[in-house]
Amino acid sequence: MAKRRRSSNERKRWLFEQGAASARQILRIDAAPGEDLYFCSICLEAYDAESIDDKSLTLEYIPPESIGGKGILLTCQDCNNDAGTRLDAFAANQHKFDKFRSGAPGPPLRFRAKGVAIAATNTIHGTALVLLESQSNPDRYRSLVDELEAAEAAGHSPFEVLDLAPILRLDSGRASASYIRAAYLVPFALYGYRFVFQETLDGVRDQIRSGGTHPATERW
Ligand SMILES: [Zn+2]
Repeated sequence: MAKRRRSSNERKRWLFEQGAASARQILRIDAAPGEDLYFCSICLEAYDAESIDDKSLTLEYIPPESIGGKGILLTCQDCNNDAGTRLDAFAANQHKFDKFRSGAPGPPLRFRAKGVAIAATNTIHGTALVLLESQSNPDRYRSLVDELEAAEAAGHSPFEVLDLAPILRLDSGRASASYIRAAYLVPFALYGYRFVFQETLDGVRDQIRSGGTHPATERW
């Protein structure tokens, strides 16, 4: 018989109970029924069960939902939104760019060279370039075409004459912070607060909360 899928709220409630049980055990809290607490594993703020209904505790997807992640724990709304806007978008962009650079076939990426927008895509025959004609810059466009034709006639590849700048917001520090965040949250989902409430992890939390701009500390 097929298992019934838990609704998102049921899943959140179940994750809350798992977290609260772990917190009770580790902190030796003797909570009365209904007074359980769940701690956001990033900011370590405490939340009660009502925080599920008022949405201050949210389902956290690892890896990010946009690349097929699963909701495996709860984090507070602030920490969750913060990651989505400041970190995960950079991890997704970095992934696209690294994949393109490795030569793997995939959807086209947009670049700019000498003021002209270019779409580049990897095929099994190599990298193909499509110049996106810019009505606003017909002169630049024409001069780039001339340059590429001259390069081809001289037996050079377009990449020898073009300096392609990706039209993607790239920030390897923020992309790394997104990966560190995921690598920190997975053991929490497995081991609960026994893992999270270690002081030695303060440096990791600082790094995550500063969005990859905080220098790594020696503590980790
Ligand atoms: Zn938080």
